[in-house]
Amino acid sequence: MSSLQCLRRLHLEVNRPELAVMSARTQIAFDIGHRVGDIAVQIYGGGAGEYIEYEAGLGKALEQTRELLRAGPREPVFEATLEHGGVLVREDVLLPQQGGWHIVEVKASTRLKDEHVQDCAIQAWVHEGAGFSFERFSLAHIDNQFVYPGGGDYAGLLVEEDLTREVRQLQHSVPLWVEAAMAAADGPEPKLAVGQHCFTPYECPFFRHCWPVDSDYPVHGLKGSRKKLGQLVSKGYSDIREVPGETLTSEDQYRIWRVTRQGVPEILPAAGAFVSGLDWPRFYLDFETVGPAVPVWPGTRPYEVLPFQWSCHVERAPGELHHEEFLDMSGEPPMHALAEALIAVLGDRGPVLMYTAYEKGVIMALAARFPDLAGPLQAIVSRLVDLYPVTKASYYHPDMMGSWSIKAVLPTIDPSMDWEKLEGIHEGSEASTAWLDAVHSNDERHREAVRRQLLEYCRFDTEAMVRLVQFFEQTQVR
Ligand code: SF4
Repeated sequence: MSSLQCLRRLHLEVNRPELAVMSARTQIAFDIGHRVGDIAVQIYGGGAGEYIEYEAGLGKALEQTRELLRAGPREPVFEATLEHGGVLVREDVLLPQQGGWHIVEVKASTRLKDEHVQDCAIQAWVHEGAGFSFERFSLAHIDNQFVYPGGGDYAGLLVEEDLTREVRQLQHSVPLWVEAAMAAADGPEPKLAVGQHCFTPYECPFFRHCWPVDSDYPVHGLKGSRKKLGQLVSKGYSDIREVPGETLTSEDQYRIWRVTRQGVPEILPAAGAFVSGLDWPRFYLDFETVGPAVPVWPGTRPYEVLPFQWSCHVERAPGELHHEEFLDMSGEPPMHALAEALIAVLGDRGPVLMYTAYEKGVIMALAARFPDLAGPLQAIVSRLVDLYPVTKASYYHPDMMGSWSIKAVLPTIDPSMDWEKLEGIHEGSEASTAWLDAVHSNDERHREAVRRQLLEYCRFDTEAMVRLVQFFEQTQVR
């Protein structure tokens, strides 16, 4: 599958794996895949079936699979391990059906994607090449309309799409793919250009090897079309400042390029005017949420965004700040208590500041979920003020490298405010994973450590907003 994304990627995976840098997001995607795989065993096996272990070694897994498949389709087989033509596959689920096997590939996504069909075609080619047949090939993915009834009942979480016809059609291309992959693995590193394919369909872990990253302001900081960025790199540009302005077509890119070349941050007076016009008291709000692929609480859907924590800095009058927070580590559904505590702290007047509209979506979802709290939650929605648009319109610093995320903005106005300096948790996806892991852990010390890190992380987010508003106010005074 790596070779279909980029032959250079495959070559590097085989020959220089030490160059790979896995992002936290990619690692989390793997973890989600494993969790969904475990649930698939429960759904399709229901306690029955054979699971091919890998830990005892590849040879044993191949042998066990061969024995089971030769015996014929009698019970489900999970992680069937087969090899053909130098290609190894682990098939998620094999189900017995009249006269043959039904192969089911399980994915954690909520829809079928082109690369899934390729993945299935490779498995089918290996399956038949290893000397076995199949009657049907399906892809099972998450049904995002599934509502978990509780009690461990996940029937209906996965929805199947029959890909037998598509797989049969594509199967003939597999030998060509394998041949190209083998040549790339054995040969010198292919000199393939960078571009959109470095991010699609998967984020490539060799970004830092292939893209120029050593200059002060690498070209990828221009953002926008990755295809066009790749073309700039191919033309030999490695730093934003080297790129000729006339090659830039988007307004954002031109602004990033202009400010970076000038080497002086751009601060427009509109930001200062905007924040100075905000009423008192002011509330600076941030949520942490989870969205597990496999729902944890009854009445929730896969990937539904559910808040478990908030932080709020309250500024009653200029400089009169105090901090409020909520974090539930009980493992019980935290949403109702979280919403009640939020309503109590936010009161009924004063702007509620957020950065991007994410908080708005979370509060509206809470209002839809809890009719008893819908009134006060909708009243909060009417007080929300988003600091992102005004920041985007009025501020840019070359070190932001094309990003107006608060994590990119803050270190440029206050170098002491860098999320990388925090212990354990540095971004939202890490907070979600750490929380889910900790609430299901029996290790009290671990739970306490995560609790501390989460409180510190979320507090840091709202402190950042306070600092941002102060910064804009100061620019007004100047
Ligand atoms: S970063 Fe891009 S060019 Fe380099 S290996 Fe990955 S996909 Fe290929």
